[in-house]
Amino acid sequence: MAGEPQADCLFCKIVAGDVPATVVRETETTVAFRDINPQAPTHILVIPKVHYPDAAGLAAAEPAVAADVLREAGEVAAEEKAESYRIVFNTGTGAGQTVFHAHAHVLGGRGLQWPPG
Ligand code: 5GP
Ligand code: ZN
Repeated sequence: MAGEPQADCLFCKIVAGDVPATVVRETETTVAFRDINPQAPTHILVIPKVHYPDAAGLAAAEPAVAADVLREAGEVAAEEKAESYRIVFNTGTGAGQTVFHAHAHVLGGRGLQWPPG
């Protein structure tokens, strides 16, 4: 069924607690944890507990949960005292997506170039 945990998915394993992560926030529908390879002083991933390969697929299937991810991205940035921050959803290998469970990168704590690379 759509949204069900996938046995071979790293982020489903983090949701289940089978892979450890430095969790900074958790809600009924989302988990936020520090990226293992941070690209900025604040680099936190916000993921839905349900499994969808990318953010647009999540939004199409479960728009309320997609909104939860965005709201939590803002909460995380506020907790980190990041006045300016960037929310990134890499989608597809060409854009750098390596984990195919929807996730928002919340990046802040340094100047962020525009346009991004
Ligand atoms: P993507 O490249 O798919 O947009 O983002 C995946 C992110 O997950 C990368 O920034 C990568 O550093 C992070 N990541 C990969 N494996 C782990 C892990 O085991 N734990 C944590 N906390 N982050 C991970
Ligand atoms: Zn998953």
